[in-house]
Order: sequence, then structure tokens, then C-alpha cells
Amino acid sequence: MKYSKLFSKTLKTAPANADTVNHRLLVQAGYVRQVMAGVYTYTPLGLRVLNKISNIIREEMNEIGGQEVLMPLLHPSSIWKQTGGWDKIDVLFKVKSRTGRDYALAQSNEETVTPLVKEWIHSEKDLPLAVYHINSKFRDELRSKSGILRGREFLMKDMYSWHSTQEDFDRFYQIVKEAYFKIFNRMGLSAKATEASGGAFTEKVSYEFEVLSEAGEAHILHCENCNWCVNSDDITTYKEGVSCHKCGKAKLQSAKAAELGNVFDLGTKYTKAFDISISNAQGEKINPIMGCYGIGISRTMGVLVETFHDERGIIWPESVAPFKVQLISLAGKNSEVTKRADDIYTKLVKADVEVLYDERNSVGAGAKLADADLLGIPYRVVVSEKTGEKVEIKRRSEKESKLVGTEELLKSL
Ligand SMILES: [Zn+2]
Repeated sequence: MKYSKLFSKTLKTAPANADTVNHRLLVQAGYVRQVMAGVYTYTPLGLRVLNKISNIIREEMNEIGGQEVLMPLLHPSSIWKQTGGWDKIDVLFKVKSRTGRDYALAQSNEETVTPLVKEWIHSEKDLPLAVYHINSKFRDELRSKSGILRGREFLMKDMYSWHSTQEDFDRFYQIVKEAYFKIFNRMGLSAKATEASGGAFTEKVSYEFEVLSEAGEAHILHCENCNWCVNSDDITTYKEGVSCHKCGKAKLQSAKAAELGNVFDLGTKYTKAFDISISNAQGEKINPIMGCYGIGISRTMGVLVETFHDERGIIWPESVAPFKVQLISLAGKNSEVTKRADDIYTKLVKADVEVLYDERNSVGAGAKLADADLLGIPYRVVVSEKTGEKVEIKRRSEKESKLVGTEELLKSL
């Protein structure tokens, strides 16, 4: 991709209304634009990052047997009335049509996925089953700030599973938990799972996946040794400095964190509401146990920026970066250098390296290098009179650059 063709461009100064690092850097670098508080457009650059995150999640959900579907965002009110959510969920967006009918915008998808699978769940043999989709969610938040960390409309992966026994749900939860750790690790994030046994502390059994972040709104106590943590806003039983509840090998530390994932043991609430039943081994009719597993995708993108940046801009982990390489031509009026840079661009594209080529002639060297730092693409490759037959390669996360030949460049990427 040539930078001159990309319609989104960087801003010289940070947007005035940005209250968080992710909002400031994502807008300044041209990844997103705010439509209103909590609602954002993703430019081609931003969408590439969202898609990278989505694909990592998709791969790991497929790996544990999740089957992808695509469910609608506009729901009839009837299914929300059937589960009681219509009256109970205060953040549910309600829409009235011109014919006076009531609709809900998807706040979650239990109400569509449960009737969907009902058609095919008849016996124990049909379980376990796990179905997921990646789509927008809506929440009627009173206040929405913190950039793309907390949206009124946001991108999410939500998976749902059905089990004939509680033991089977517990078994599957452990598998999802490992997959979640793998997902966050692949993006360079270190996640902790809150595993306070729900019954004792909260009404519903839920598990949260937290990533340490100063921009997060959760206060947690966590163990460095075993990744165990509790949300200290909910649970005051645990204190900082006491030994880890789970492994006993390290002291609990307090930190601010952002919740990126959650898991709910929904019990039989939805299978009862939509009347799904199967015969168990004893021949009794039972409602299957259902689980719900979310990961906020746009929120993850925000946390990545909060976690990986410096005073000059974003530093994307390679696995989610919009491009792997930012190739910069500092040719000026030197047509030989232009020709060499063009040639390297062609070679990188041929080698399937994702490259953003800043070939603009009207922009000075300083501005181009500043743009590269702001955009945060992992490798910066500069071609100039100074580099001669070679190119200068530098990782965004490092200070040192080195001169390499074209062959070596291709090999090292
Ligand atoms: Zn521990």
C-alpha cells in the first residue's frame, strides 16, 4: 500500500478532546475517528488492526471446536421479553420502528443463539456444542469516555456453549481459559483470570480476564507467579501483601487493570427460557447448562495502544500491526534513490510482506520519520542517498538501526 493513496493521514497535533492515550494516538495517527462519544469509525489502517485481532481470536476459537456464525444486531423485542432482559437490562438499546414495533439492538446474543441451536439439540449426543460470532454490540451507557476502551457500539467476539452436565461446562471452561491466555499472549499482553468462586462473592458465577493497564477501570489484586487475581472493587476479603490465595508462592499486588474478556456460567436460565431439553443418561429430561464467553475486540485494540506506546507514538506488537514494514523513501529529487525504493517495494510485495510505502515527495525526512513513529509499524526501512546500495532497518521498539543489503532485508522479515 502506498501512503499517498491512503486517505487517512496523520495529524500534526493531538486532538483536543482526547482523555486517554488510546484516543489521542489512534486519532492522531489516523486509525479511528470519533462519530460521537463511544462510537468510532475505523479507517483502513484501524480496520486492519481490528481484523488482525479478530483473526487471532477466530483461530483460537476454531482450535477448541468453536463454530462461527453471524447473527443479526437488530432483534425483535419478543425474544428479549421472553428472557426478561427487556425490562431488566438498563443498557439495552431499544428502537421503535415507524409502525410502532419495538426492537432491541444486540447487547449480547443469548436471545438469538439459543433459539438457533434449539433446532439441532435433541439428545446428549448433540452436546457439547460451542458457537461464536464476531460482531458489534451496543450498550446504552450514560457516559462514554476512555477512547475505544468503553464504547456504546463496539466489536466483540462472543461464544456460547451447551453442556449436558455441570462437570462438562467446568471442563470446557478450563479449555477456553487456556485459549484466552493464548490469545492475549499472541498479542503480547499478559492476562490474569479472576477466579473468585462466584457463589461466595457474587450472585452469578463469572470469570474475568484482566490485563494490567493504567487506563483500565478495575482495581485488582494479582499474583505474579500463577496469574490468579481478584477484582478488589468487588471483593474486600483479600489484602495487598498477603500470600497468593491459590499458589502461596508470591504476595498479592494491587494494580489497575482493564477487563478484556469474561465468562459467564449461565446455568439453565436461557435453555429454560427457550425450552431446550434433552434426555440425559438416566433418561430424564433436563435443560442443558449454557456458558457465554466474550472478548472485547475494539477494547483490546485500545488496551494494546495503552500498553505499547512511547512519547512519539504507538508500538504495535507484530501480530496485530496494520503492516509489518513501513518503507520510507527519502529520495527528494534523486531519481536513482526513488528507483531503488520502488524496486524494494515491489520485492517486498512479491515476497508477501505487508508493507506501507511512504513514497511522498512533498514531505520532508523529519515529518516522514515522525509519522512512522506515530503509526507504530514494527519495522522501519529507509532508503536514501546516505544508505547507498543498502537500506536502513530499525525496529520501532528499538533505538539501534542497521544497514543491510536487499537480500538480507528480505531474509530478516
Ligand atoms: Zn499465585
